[in-house]
Amino acid sequence: MKAFTFYDQNKQPQIGIEYEGKTINFSIVWQYFKQLKNILQAPDLFFLQIVVEMEYFSTATLQEIIKTVQGVRPLQDLELPEKIQYDVPISRPQEIICLGRNYKKHAEEFDSTVPQQPMFFSKLSSSLLPHRGVIKIPSDVGRVDHEIELAVVIGEVASKVAAKDAYDYIAGYTIANDITARDMQKTDIKDGKPWTLSKGFDTFCPMGPYLVPADSVQDPHNLELELLVNGEVRQKSNTRYMVFKIPELVAYISKYVTLQPGDIICTGTPEGVSPIKPGDEIVATIEGLGTLKNTVAV
Ligand code: MG
Repeated sequence: MKAFTFYDQNKQPQIGIEYEGKTINFSIVWQYFKQLKNILQAPDLFFLQIVVEMEYFSTATLQEIIKTVQGVRPLQDLELPEKIQYDVPISRPQEIICLGRNYKKHAEEFDSTVPQQPMFFSKLSSSLLPHRGVIKIPSDVGRVDHEIELAVVIGEVASKVAAKDAYDYIAGYTIANDITARDMQKTDIKDGKPWTLSKGFDTFCPMGPYLVPADSVQDPHNLELELLVNGEVRQKSNTRYMVFKIPELVAYISKYVTLQPGDIICTGTPEGVSPIKPGDEIVATIEGLGTLKNTVAV
């Protein structure tokens, strides 16, 4: 199952779900479900983030809601057209926490090594950009790179979570592209400055198009990742090469920071990062999670 937030013809946000080969408007399915169950006081569901916050975001739960409605009315009229205007799956995360140097070969391509402990930085939520959105690169910032990453979306308040319990706190997975102003980052590192600005420009966090429920992903550490620029493969790896695995990451972060539903952890990028420039088309695919496409402009 794959879920997403989109805008309908009236520019209203709605939730779509790809289910059994069809893509349906789940926001309307939910309205019918509320009537059937006589729970009209329940909130409307227009953003995936609300579904996550309500702790409804699992394949099992969403399937049950769809099947209940399908039992009393056909869903054909709720099927969505092929061309859709996507939003990011989670539009207002409180935190976007990212891993630096979490793939050995990526650390090596910048003559660096894997850190002893996971190394975190934050990306600004204002940098989020949906599927098909345009990455904007100011003309005076030098080299800017793509970085495909598996992104984990938190499903429950998580504080001091043990690694063995970490998966209980994960709602789902999506694709992120951690766009980086590399020249600026290198200068900042040399000067002892943080990475916030070089990672945080507007449009520097393409994400989506889908959020895939955790119970639809068999093993998040066995997913092929591939990123193409203008049809040429630049990054190709597998999430199994992550140094610090997802349970360790959730345990390590939540020891110090209380994570909220909808918070995002980007798990680091494999080798092959390379410069992008205006006019490029970037296509990032993670096995089972779909394909995130963006173009680049000034
Ligand atoms: Mg990165």
